[in-house]
Amino acid sequence: VDTHEKLFRIASIPGDGIGTEVTEAAIQVLQKLAEVDGTFHFEFEHFDWSSKNFKERGYYIPPDGIDQLKKFNAILFGAVGSPDSNKGQTQAKATDTKRLPDVPDHISLWGLMLPLRNSLTQYVNVRPTRILRGTSSPLRAEVCGPKDLDWVIIRENSEGEYSGHGGTTHAASGNAVATEVSIFTQVGIERIMRFAFDTAMLRPRKKLTMVTKSNAQRHGMVLWDQIFHEVKKEYPDVETDKMLVDAMTVRMTLKPQTLDTIVATNLHADILSDLAAALSGSIGIAPSSNLDPTRKHPSMFEPIHGSAPDIAGQGIANPVGAFWSAAEMVRWLGLEEVADKLMECIENVTEAGPRTRDLGGSANTKEVTEAVCNEIEKQL
Ligand code: ATP
Ligand code: MG
Repeated sequence: VDTHEKLFRIASIPGDGIGTEVTEAAIQVLQKLAEVDGTFHFEFEHFDWSSKNFKERGYYIPPDGIDQLKKFNAILFGAVGSPDSNKGQTQAKATDTKRLPDVPDHISLWGLMLPLRNSLTQYVNVRPTRILRGTSSPLRAEVCGPKDLDWVIIRENSEGEYSGHGGTTHAASGNAVATEVSIFTQVGIERIMRFAFDTAMLRPRKKLTMVTKSNAQRHGMVLWDQIFHEVKKEYPDVETDKMLVDAMTVRMTLKPQTLDTIVATNLHADILSDLAAALSGSIGIAPSSNLDPTRKHPSMFEPIHGSAPDIAGQGIANPVGAFWSAAEMVRWLGLEEVADKLMECIENVTEAGPRTRDLGGSANTKEVTEAVCNEIEKQL
């Protein structure tokens, strides 16, 4: 190995179901990219932190797991979720050490995803959405042509409705009382606002829409409004507007071309970005980045889809969401031109095929992966 080449150490956490299939495909594409480009290379280390392991060990991340991750330049993540989780009424705790029959969805979230995002200060979740060449929106063409949907959703990733504060009492009384407290801090809101404005500044339209529900939630959401108003003064070139989250779903669906950069709380952006993914064509395409903008810790890149137990093990998952996520990782590592070229290769394949079933084709994961690798050989 030429010592002048850049070496990037990547932790891979494939997870469960199609998470493992699309992560393997993404690694193949990244290796091909490095091989053809020749100025950098990747070294991958795999972490088998899955629901299967949770059932055997009682935890997702070993006690020193976060520290292990800190030495990497980035993390490539697949998906976690147990095939049994939707049936399960199991009251499993992330701290249980016995073998567990199944793993409810909230356990994989609280046992794995949230500790990762919080411990690695990944306080921003970025979800770009657009209609890739050769794919189309389920919206009518008059409402949403190929160029009418080009958004980036900035999701607050560290506090808000997913803070985990709350509890359940009076369970034995027959009228259980549960609280779920949203936590909003000035520091937390300011940093996500600045990130959103910075993102808007880098995009051609320089347009930012802030989403809240401040007509009904009069503390945290009002603080969002106030801080938005303050931070806005530092960015006179950004055109801004505000939307209530309910009205926002209507605007996304009926007037997609009026939106560009969007900033919202953890819960609101979670929901809006699933809607965005669906409106852009397929959940199998959409990428996401969990970023630590301070770059103190590695950032994490993952397709937004889950483990898809219904198609897992068949080798037919669409790997494009994982490829796009990998491209975002390459961009975050500072290789912007390479990232653009990789996106070009991915879109050449979504346009000319082969395509997986969710995009109306009949190809499997392997065929799409090979096609993207061939494009990389041709285009780079
Ligand atoms: P989890 O519990 O892990 O969140 P889920 O089944 O709730 O899994 P997804 O995995 O996101 O949620 O799947 C939702 C639907 O979209 C499923 O029918 C699945 O088959 C389909 N799907 C998701 N990702 C892909 C993909 N990459 N390629 C093809 N279909 C996909
Ligand atoms: Mg799910």
